[in-house]
Amino acid sequence: MAIERTFSILKPDATRRNLSGAINAMIEAAGLRIVAQKRVLMTRPQAETFYAVHKDRPFFAELVATMTAGPVVVQVLEGEDAIRRYREVLGATDPAKADPGTVRKKFALSISENSAHGSDSPETAAIEIEQFFSGNEIVG
Ligand code: ATP
Ligand code: MG
Repeated sequence: MAIERTFSILKPDATRRNLSGAINAMIEAAGLRIVAQKRVLMTRPQAETFYAVHKDRPFFAELVATMTAGPVVVQVLEGEDAIRRYREVLGATDPAKADPGTVRKKFALSISENSAHGSDSPETAAIEIEQFFSGNEIVG
């Protein structure tokens, strides 16, 4: 299995409750390496672009409001099968359906405030990483 990179966001509900370190520990325990990381306030246009695929969904306005409600930590994670592996670490989108031991089961407050994001394919990972990091900010 190839070494991949995936894009992660520790969402405002996580930073607000000081959970960045706890989630990073779960990321590292899963064998993923944090090769880039910064704390930023997402602007509304950034959030709208990032989640543009959902722009016609009924929850879009709530999603953009949630993502801009406070600081986020954007990250690039590297490792074997990183995209699938990180989504396993996160668990299902809805915390009520997430497996025990996952980030969302442990920490998510709701389907909207679900603590972290992970890319869902190599194509989206590349696009998402490029939205927040330049090449020399990623050090593997
Ligand atoms: P993410 O893209 O954040 O990693 P995901 O891939 O598990 O999550 P998506 O279907 O891509 O899930 O939804 C993107 C985000 O939109 C979810 O993480 C969640 O915050 C929000 N969302 C999804 N469905 C709903 C819903 N029914 N009500 C409110 N918010 C939702
Ligand atoms: Mg998604």
